[in-house]
Amino acid sequence: MEIDRARVARARVLAVGAGGIGCELLKTLALHGFENITTMDLDTIDVSNLNRQFLFRKRHVGMSKAEVARESVMKFQPRATIDATRANVKEARFDKEYFKSFDVVLNGLDNLEARRHVNRLCLAAEVPLVESGTTGYKGQVTVHERRTCACFECTEKPTPKSYPICTLRDTPDKPIHCVVYAKELLFSKLFGDVNTESDLDEQEAIEAGAFRRNEGETGTDFAERVFAYVFGSKIEGLLLKDDMWKSRAKPTPLTTSGVGLDGAFTETLPDAKSARRAHGLLDTHAVWNTSECAKVFVSATARLIERERPVTFDKDDDDAMEFVTAVSNLRSANYGIPAQSLFDAKGMAGNIVHAVATTNAIVSGLIVIEALKIIHNQMDKTRYTFVLEHPSNGRFLQPLSKEDPNPKCSVCSNARVELVCNTNKFTKGDLIKKVLKGRLSVHAPSVMFGSSQIHETGDDLDEDEVEHYEALDKRTLSALPGGGVVNGTILAVDDFSQEFTFELMVTHREEWDEENDPDGFIIRGEDVKASEAVAEEATETEAAGAKDDDEVLLMDDEIEITDVKRAREDDDDAKASKKQRA
Ligand SMILES: [Zn+2]
Repeated sequence: MEIDRARVARARVLAVGAGGIGCELLKTLALHGFENITTMDLDTIDVSNLNRQFLFRKRHVGMSKAEVARESVMKFQPRATIDATRANVKEARFDKEYFKSFDVVLNGLDNLEARRHVNRLCLAAEVPLVESGTTGYKGQVTVHERRTCACFECTEKPTPKSYPICTLRDTPDKPIHCVVYAKELLFSKLFGDVNTESDLDEQEAIEAGAFRRNEGETGTDFAERVFAYVFGSKIEGLLLKDDMWKSRAKPTPLTTSGVGLDGAFTETLPDAKSARRAHGLLDTHAVWNTSECAKVFVSATARLIERERPVTFDKDDDDAMEFVTAVSNLRSANYGIPAQSLFDAKGMAGNIVHAVATTNAIVSGLIVIEALKIIHNQMDKTRYTFVLEHPSNGRFLQPLSKEDPNPKCSVCSNARVELVCNTNKFTKGDLIKKVLKGRLSVHAPSVMFGSSQIHETGDDLDEDEVEHYEALDKRTLSALPGGGVVNGTILAVDDFSQEFTFELMVTHREEWDEENDPDGFIIRGEDVKASEAVAEEATETEAAGAKDDDEVLLMDDEIEITDVKRAREDDDDAKASKKQRA
C-alpha cells in the first residue's frame, strides 16, 4: 500500500484507552506520522502498570494515564497534536456529534460495557471502528463499519470473567472480586513464597509491616493485626481518595471490637480438623455472619502461618478454603457485597493470566495497519487478525476475512430481543439493573410500555419523576400500570447516550431451576433456532469479546472456548488446502 504521508498526518484519530494497549498504540501512531490524535482514559497510573505501560514512570503514579501518555509521546513526536482527557468515554458529552469529528476510532479498552458503548456510537456516527483486546499471549484486532460488515456486537460475547488488579485490590463490587482477592492476593501474600512480588506490597503496608509476623508473636495476635490492617486501616486509607468514590459507594472499615474479636482468642486454639469446625460451623451451605467470618479468619490464619512456606492454595485444603471464604466475606462486608457460603466460594476458584507487553505491542501494530487502510479509503482490504499460535502450522498471526452484519443483531440490524422471565416475580428494577444495564450494556435506558413511560434516565428528571420510577422499580412486571407487562408484551427501549433503540419482547415462564438459571432470566433472539446459530458463531470469534488489555485474572472456562476456536481454525486450514488442490 502506498502511504500518503499528508493524509496520515491530518487524519483525525480517536484512541480510546491509554492503558496496556493504549500506550503502545499512541507510540505506534505517533511513529507512523499520525499528528492529530485524541485519547481519553478514566484511570490514574498504578504501580502495577509500570512493567508494561512504558509511557509511565514511577514518578507518574497517581497521575492521569491519558495526560501522562500525551506528555511522554510529545517528547519524541513534538509535531503531533495530542488531545488528552481524563474521562470516561460513556460521559454524555462524547455523543454522536463528537464521534463524527473523527475519521477512525481505535479501541484499547479493558471492559465489555465501554466497548459496546463505543460500538453503538460509532454505528450512529458512521465512523469505522478498530477494536482490540489481549489476554496473556493471545490477542485480536477486528474492524467494524455500519452496513458494510459485522458490528462488534453481531456475535454474542461470553460473560466476561476477568478482573483488573485495581478492581480486586481497591474497588471490588462483586462476590467474585472478593474471592479472587482472598485467594490470589492475600493468601499468597501471607502464606506463599516470601520472595514473590505482590500487588499488596504498597508503601503503607510495607512501612506498617502489616503482613510480616513479628518475632515471638502468637499466630492469633498476628492474625488480629492483619485483620485490623486489611479490613480496617487499609479501607480508611482508601476512603481518603475522594476521586475513587465519586461514582461508587464508599466502603466501611471493620474493627476487631466491632466484630467481637477483642478477647475472643485468649486461650490456645481449640483442636479441630479445620478452622470453622473449631467454631461449630458445620454446614458448608450456610453463610457465616461477619463475627463468625472474623473468628474463622483468625483461626485459619493462625493455623496456616504455622505451616512451612510456601503454602500453595488448594481448594480442597480445608484451612485454605475457609481462610478464603472468611476473607472474601469480610471484604464483602467492607464493600456492601452479599456474602457467600463456603460451598459457593469454593466454586469460584480460578487461574491467573498475566498481561504480556509484547502481545499489546503486536496488537497495537495490527490496529495501526488497519487504521492506515481505513484512512486510505481501503475499507475492503481491512480484516480481522488473531494473535494465537496455530496448532499445526505454528504461525502466530491468523488473518480472517471480516464477517457480514448479523441480521439477528439488535444493535446494527434492529433485531428484536427476547427476555424470558417469570413476570410475576421479576421486578422492573431487575429489568433495568440486571437485564438492560447488566446484560445488554444499555448505559442510560428509557423504557416505553405502550404509550406509557415506565423508566427514564437523566439529570434533567425532576424529583417527582425520580420517585415515581423508583417506586415502579419495586413492582413486578405483571403489576406495572397499564395492565402489566405480561407474556408477549413488547417494550421499546431507548438510550439517547448511545443512540441505541430496540424492542424487547417479554416471554413469561413460570418455573425456574435455580441451579441451571441462577439469574432467573434468559436473553435470546426472537427465533430460538436462530439464536442457537448465533451462539455457535460466537465461539468462533470469542476473542473479540471478553478480553481485557490490562492485567487480568482469568477463569478456566475462557481457555476452553479458545480451544474451540483453534479447532475451527484447523477446519479453515483443511478448507483452504482443499481449495488449493481443486
Ligand atoms: Zn451488529
